[in-house]
Amino acid sequence: MRESTQILIIGGGPAGSTAAGLLAREGFQVTLLERDRFPRYHIGESILPSCRPIFEMLGVWEKVQAHGFQPKGGAFFQWGPEEWEVRFSNLGDDTPNAWQVVRSEFDQILLDHARELGVEVFEGVSVRDVEFDGDRAVAARWYETKDGDRGGRIAFDYVIDASGRSGVLATRHLKNRRFHDVFRNVAAWSYWKNAKPLGKGPSGAIAVCSVEDGWFWAIPLHDGTLSVGLVTGRDLFNDSRGRLNGDTQAVYDEALAKCPTVLEMLEGAEQVSGMKVEQDYSYVSESFAGPGYLLAGDAACFLDPLLSTGVHLATYSAMLGTASLASVLRGEVSEEDAWKFYGTVYHHAYQRLLVLVSVFYESYRGKEHHFYNAQRLTHDKRDALNVQAAFDRIITGIADLNDAEQAYKLVQDHLHGSTSGDPNPLNNLNRVHEIKQSPFDPDNAVGGLYLVTQPRLGLSSIQDSPRPEPS
Ligand SMILES: Cc1cc2nc3c(=O)[nH]c(=O)nc-3n(C[C@H](O)[C@H](O)[C@H](O)COP(=O)(O)OP(=O)(O)OC[C@H]3O[C@@H](n4cnc5c(N)ncnc54)[C@H](O)[C@@H]3O)c2cc1C
Repeated sequence: MRESTQILIIGGGPAGSTAAGLLAREGFQVTLLERDRFPRYHIGESILPSCRPIFEMLGVWEKVQAHGFQPKGGAFFQWGPEEWEVRFSNLGDDTPNAWQVVRSEFDQILLDHARELGVEVFEGVSVRDVEFDGDRAVAARWYETKDGDRGGRIAFDYVIDASGRSGVLATRHLKNRRFHDVFRNVAAWSYWKNAKPLGKGPSGAIAVCSVEDGWFWAIPLHDGTLSVGLVTGRDLFNDSRGRLNGDTQAVYDEALAKCPTVLEMLEGAEQVSGMKVEQDYSYVSESFAGPGYLLAGDAACFLDPLLSTGVHLATYSAMLGTASLASVLRGEVSEEDAWKFYGTVYHHAYQRLLVLVSVFYESYRGKEHHFYNAQRLTHDKRDALNVQAAFDRIITGIADLNDAEQAYKLVQDHLHGSTSGDPNPLNNLNRVHEIKQSPFDPDNAVGGLYLVTQPRLGLSSIQDSPRPEPS
């Protein structure tokens, strides 16, 4: 391996591969170190349509489309006594916009694509730690995963930490990862063969079905398996496991027996894997960037999987991070200004989704249940998150004031438990979520900067953008 690189990327998941590929396309020299050897297992199978424009920008969309993943027509929610669905619009020619993916295959496509774009990729190489000169990150020490004695040091101008939940910088160096006191959940999941299709909702949909102490996902995959997972509260999970002699399978089976929709899909099906368990606590780092470094994807923040937002946030942050870093390296903006743009825009995107997930949990009608109560943001937390400002930011992106007022009212109705408006909170949430505060719009500039793709992916200053003609 070389002794120095212009940009080092830690981790080859969706955040790392996307950032590496986009930076290589911009002509920078990029080295990526990935701890595992691909293909490797990963959870996070239900992908949102918002990933498509980024994959198009990366030039990998056709490869993802051609692979044969299960097209995802949307989502079906059975939430307490209510049933709702979200339909994703297709492209004009009926090409799906989103997929259910086997992550080992999906992540391999993205990593191979980064390699084809010129990224030097090393698999089976783990970053042990990052070296700082004062407060500036300057080099990483690595070792070969299969032989911890073989390793070295690689210097860099910049590093993007995309090491996922292990979060090399946030957990080992900066110690700035903060866990939310809501969404302290545990996920337990497994795979099934010969399951029946979900008889309702859009075709290929993810099914999300609540039970008293949590919810199940059911995701159909193109390899013929159905991914079925339980998300429940940490305490509830530990209590059940204690009662059931530490048997995770028994906890899962007991909850499954109370979930008729998923049970029906599993009638006659065969479980083909053991149980996998992960504490999917939500967290956020106090800052997403510092001298010489950026954090992207799960290395920066993680959100409860309820709305399948993980890969979206990973690729979105990779795109924002690439634009910010590319402009710094080209001498167009200062590191301080670019990092401020990156941190603010990414944090707003995360915060907005955090609020949507919380509002969605709150819309559950059986609020007396412990699990659903535990997902409620407290008033203090809301104040700290400045939810009002988050909504303001959502709605300030809208040109038409009537729409803005309506969207604001829909969210307020849900926060304050009003039953007026559309009874499907997903319709309301979708509408609010669709009202993006686009970082491409000069009107949404942060510190005078906004995102551009032409002539290159980067940041542009509103001072340099053409002024509209006076009318
Ligand atoms: C239970 C559960 C269900 C989920 N369901 C969904 C879903 O349906 N849809 C969705 O979009 N998201 C889902 N997610 C979230 C999704 O898994 C993640 O958000 C997504 O994988 C983040 O991508 P990433 O690139 O940031 O990190 P990762 O995909 O985790 O990639 C990080 C990479 O870094 C490597 N690495 C780690 N440490 C080092 C090191 N020291 N040196 C070198 N390499 C290192 C790892 O091997 C890994 O390959 C779910 C998560 C959980 C826990």
